[in-house]
Amino acid sequence: MPSLTNVSSPPRGSSDSLAEPLVRVEELTVRFPAGRAGFWGQEKLYLHAVEGVSFEIGRGETLGLVGESGCGKTTTGRAILRRVPLDGGRITFDGEDITHVEGESLRRLRRGMQLVFQDPYASLNPRLRVLEIVAEPLLVHGVVGRVRHAEDRVAELLELVGLPPEHMFRYPHAFSGGQRQRINIARALSLEPDFIVADEPVSALDVSIRAQVVNLMQDIQERLGLTYLFIGHDLSVVRHISHRIAVMYAGKIVEIGDRDEIYEDPKHPYTKALLSAVPIPDPKLEATRKRITIAGAFPDLLRPPSGCRFHTRCPIAIERCAHEEPPLEEKARAHHAACWLT
Ligand code: SF4
Repeated sequence: MPSLTNVSSPPRGSSDSLAEPLVRVEELTVRFPAGRAGFWGQEKLYLHAVEGVSFEIGRGETLGLVGESGCGKTTTGRAILRRVPLDGGRITFDGEDITHVEGESLRRLRRGMQLVFQDPYASLNPRLRVLEIVAEPLLVHGVVGRVRHAEDRVAELLELVGLPPEHMFRYPHAFSGGQRQRINIARALSLEPDFIVADEPVSALDVSIRAQVVNLMQDIQERLGLTYLFIGHDLSVVRHISHRIAVMYAGKIVEIGDRDEIYEDPKHPYTKALLSAVPIPDPKLEATRKRITIAGAFPDLLRPPSGCRFHTRCPIAIERCAHEEPPLEEKARAHHAACWLT
């Protein structure tokens, strides 16, 4: 378990919104038990999903969290919401240490922190009307005693997400993917949270619909002053909505900084490779730019690589990378990366 006594300040961006962090994560570590190995089963195995992750999110800010599948993005988001057990680290929300909050206090805390799920089809109960779906958190938290008492609030929320209030009496099957995601967002907003973890909220939607939902999330953020952790793998979408970007690889943050800094001057070889795969709208530029291919397979997180976790796939790795882990350090103003060579 990482020590809490030597926690360095989490990397911060330069945007003014960061004057007051709403969320602060220090040395967050999550490991999942994964059975036993060895002839006698003497070795306990753990999946090292998130290891020593630190960052802050300013009030009203969006931090984009990117990386390939299995890198720990979703686990990080859920850990902040206290939906998975932590193995180490500290989480501060609105100035309060919430790392060990339990019971009624945790339930109260969750009113202020909500999750928007990836799959708008699987996340809505097909047997409930929109009214019951959006009102559910209000009932669970005792804000209303009966579903019908929530009708005004649900109507207001549906209007906020661009749906006609009368749609509250319909069932999910009557809606398109984009509309369902709007319903999900309405449900997440029902308890007036300050912070939303949006876990790949548009990746299951048609490309044509994605921009609409992302724009809606931006509008709502401006109107309500929300703070987002926006998890995604579509780098164009993440760039559009985020103020800052954090790049994860194999359970660790390898780069974090202001959005434009990261996209225009990436420091880490992994970020460079990810960005080299993003299509450029200009066909001439697209034809001339160089793609960086990442060779090899994503590492086994039951036994993560020593040193820099990226060394088994890094095109510029040196001997030292296999033995010594590079710290996440400032490479440019408000721009941190973990690499010995940048
Ligand atoms: Fe590549 Fe070494 Fe930098 Fe890791 S520390 S990204 S292996 S050069």
